[in-house]
Amino acid sequence: MYEGVVQDLIDELGRLPGVGPKSAQRIAFHLLQADPTDVRRLADVLIEVKARVRFCATCFNVSEAEQCRICADPRRDPTTLCVVEEYKDVVAIERTREFKGRYHVLGGAISPIDGIGPDQLRIRELLQRLADDQIGEIILATDPNLEGEATATYLTRQLRPLGLRVTRLASGLPVGGDLEYADEVTLGRAFVGRQAAP
Ligand SMILES: [Zn+2]
Repeated sequence: MYEGVVQDLIDELGRLPGVGPKSAQRIAFHLLQADPTDVRRLADVLIEVKARVRFCATCFNVSEAEQCRICADPRRDPTTLCVVEEYKDVVAIERTREFKGRYHVLGGAISPIDGIGPDQLRIRELLQRLADDQIGEIILATDPNLEGEATATYLTRQLRPLGLRVTRLASGLPVGGDLEYADEVTLGRAFVGRQAAP
């Protein structure tokens, strides 16, 4: 549609999640008209984030160091582990201020349609962490949708024989949605009211 590099920009923007062709075009034209200093700052931060941010060696949260801020914090309770699908779920749960333990980020959910099975998730790493017998409770905080449920059910079967307390968030979260879209109060309540996994 457009010439050379402008079309390249629109194509690249269009590959971002949630950006349709119209939005990609709108962002591209905004950037074309923007102050060069502002665009340079955006370009710099994109490069910097890829260079500096990696995954925490323990929990796979995003981190700028070997260990993320939460794993490195001695005030966080090492006996409780909250298992989530994505980094953004950590952010959502942290916002509720109801959880003082540590996390394990799976990197997705079991979804046969998308070819994602247990081996594609960081479940092996989770089981390895449990060899450290400090951990007494695992809270399964996967998304309240089909894939999240399948993942939690699979994990419950894996974890129960280990003699750990396995809990799930209380109902009340909007079914079919993502954890990150639940409001803080609802998510906070679901956390406090967590129950033994069925
Ligand atoms: Zn960590």
